Amino acid sequence: MGKIFVFVNQKGGVGKTTSAINIGAYLAEAGKTVLLVDFDSQGNLSSGVGIVEADSKPGVYELISGLADLNQAIRQTSTPGLSVIPAGIDLSGAAVELIEQDERDFFLKKALEPAKKRYDYIFIDCPPSLGVLTLNGISAADAALIPMQCEYFAMEGLSHLLKAIRGIKKSTNPHLDIGGIFFTMYDSRTRLAQQVVKEVSAYFKSKVFSTIIPRNVRLSEAPSHGLPISKYDPQCLGAKAYQSLAMEILNRGA
Ligand code: ADP
Ligand code: MG
Repeated sequence: MGKIFVFVNQKGGVGKTTSAINIGAYLAEAGKTVLLVDFDSQGNLSSGVGIVEADSKPGVYELISGLADLNQAIRQTSTPGLSVIPAGIDLSGAAVELIEQDERDFFLKKALEPAKKRYDYIFIDCPPSLGVLTLNGISAADAALIPMQCEYFAMEGLSHLLKAIRGIKKSTNPHLDIGGIFFTMYDSRTRLAQQVVKEVSAYFKSKVFSTIIPRNVRLSEAPSHGLPISKYDPQCLGAKAYQSLAMEILNRGA
């Protein structure tokens, strides 16, 4: 049975989407079957693996609404072993529709259940909020992976997020694990970045992955070519870091 990971952080621009794509791509290169689920109506993950807006239907909205089944919603990417369920702007309407329903936290969980037999890893990329879509993502997951930028406010955000996750553990998903926290967009020249890494690592100990993702311009260019970094520039520092993080996740069975 495959394992479902949710990439979550209520802050935008911390590297959720970039991490889901690139860790997923390296796990696929290592021979695993990986399904990326775009659960943000901005559709950044979808376009980052080469799905253009016009191709994004049926996608995750149709899947959770019962308008499409898994086979119809899943696309193959140019990386063998790496598939995606895309999202488009129609997903933002789903948030409103879901709020009014009784089983509102479990739509994604139900929709992805059959995919666990077909994929080794399922990665859900959440929007930057703790709204109903993110709650669906966390409720569907076996483990949460938390990307964190090395900034002062990130620490406050992290304690808020962990509190929300504890709440969800109690209410909708008792077996949820914290798969781990990892640092993104690290700039070794700033003292603050070094200090954040030191403090978070001292506090969360083994929950913190040892790989740190550096700030690297190639990582920000790759999505405009619809490619993971493993295909766009496999030699750059960002690529090496994501490969190493993917191997940590693989070896930990995180
Ligand atoms: P989120 O999904 O949390 O909103 P993204 O993954 O979309 O964050 O990243 C935000 C922006 O930063 C994107 O433009 C992305 O290309 C860029 N980016 C992400 N990680 C890095 C990195 N390590 N170095 C440089 N740019 C990055
Ligand atoms: Mg994103």
